Amino acid sequence: MDFKAVIGQEEVKRTLISEADGGRLPHALMLTGPEGCGKMPMALALARYLCCRNKSAEGQDACGTCLSCRQWEQLIHPDVHFVFPIVANKARKKENCDEWISAWREMLLNNLYFTYTDWIQQMEVENSQPVIYTRESDNIQRKLSLKSVQGGWRIVIIWLPEKMQEAGANKMLKLLEEPPAQTMFLLVSEEPQKVLGTILSRVQHISMPRLKDEEISQALHLHLGMETEECMMVARMANGSYSKALGTATTEEGSSELFQQFTSLMRLAWSRKVKEMKAWSEEMADWGRERQKDFLLYAQRMIRESFTANLHRAELNYMNREEQQFTSRFAPFVSERNAMGIMNELQEAQVHIEQNVNAKMVFFDLILQLTVLIKNH
Ligand SMILES: [Zn+2]
Repeated sequence: MDFKAVIGQEEVKRTLISEADGGRLPHALMLTGPEGCGKMPMALALARYLCCRNKSAEGQDACGTCLSCRQWEQLIHPDVHFVFPIVANKARKKENCDEWISAWREMLLNNLYFTYTDWIQQMEVENSQPVIYTRESDNIQRKLSLKSVQGGWRIVIIWLPEKMQEAGANKMLKLLEEPPAQTMFLLVSEEPQKVLGTILSRVQHISMPRLKDEEISQALHLHLGMETEECMMVARMANGSYSKALGTATTEEGSSELFQQFTSLMRLAWSRKVKEMKAWSEEMADWGRERQKDFLLYAQRMIRESFTANLHRAELNYMNREEQQFTSRFAPFVSERNAMGIMNELQEAQVHIEQNVNAKMVFFDLILQLTVLIKNH
């Protein structure tokens, strides 16, 4: 988790390193940018750099061998505190971040380019909405009232400040405004527009761009040893997200599950077999809510791809072989007459899932609407 481990983002790295070296870092910084662009890896690299007691003369990165760096390696540095959304579970004695910390460390050490969905799966709390509880602000306040264990920087990393309960965010304001000496708040946000305005006005923003396809491709080649051509194909599908690229490259099963479910949806909508349509909706209802949303997003992408396939512009298509084969046969069923209608139904289903409407009804309704739309191509 040093700067070397951050894919691309050279400009942001240079800015942060020079601000850190020049003692010009603000005491509260918020990294934003699309999923999978490397916000958390960047935050961790900066934090580790600040804590390192033995930075090389030419700067650029943490030494990797001092006590602080070694503690960082296992995410057990005593002056680093993590705040992240959780689902409190009294029975499992997991009611605050400290009690979830081993699951959190395990996920980060396994993959720095994790996603929100990964965290939900790691906690095994599908169908719940994690939040940052107000008590976390009290916990941080208490921790910061003590002295720094190693006499250096104290770092608070807040992942997804948009999930903070309002009272907690208000309590955090005071700390952000007048932090104790040598204390740095690093916020990592995916939806900064949902962060409380008063928090936003107290942090400096650094916005990170999506990764370039070439950067993703190179990283896949380097880390997974995949062949160059395959890397490029996975990278093109990933839309600038290394997390997505890893997902496609490492869990063939996962992506093909979405594919299978999508092709069944379309076949059943075409054949109008009501009993099987019901079975399909029931199967979808058993998936976790995040996975259901993944599916609906995936379906929208497949419809978009099928529509553009009609334009015979290969460069618009971002699909793997299996998807390409299906799309080439399916494309004629998606035309100017029904493409928008299908997209609207998928988006509406997504909104309903987010609003907690009964999933079985949402998916059955979706497939019913599609039976009409698909005939109207
Ligand atoms: Zn070091």
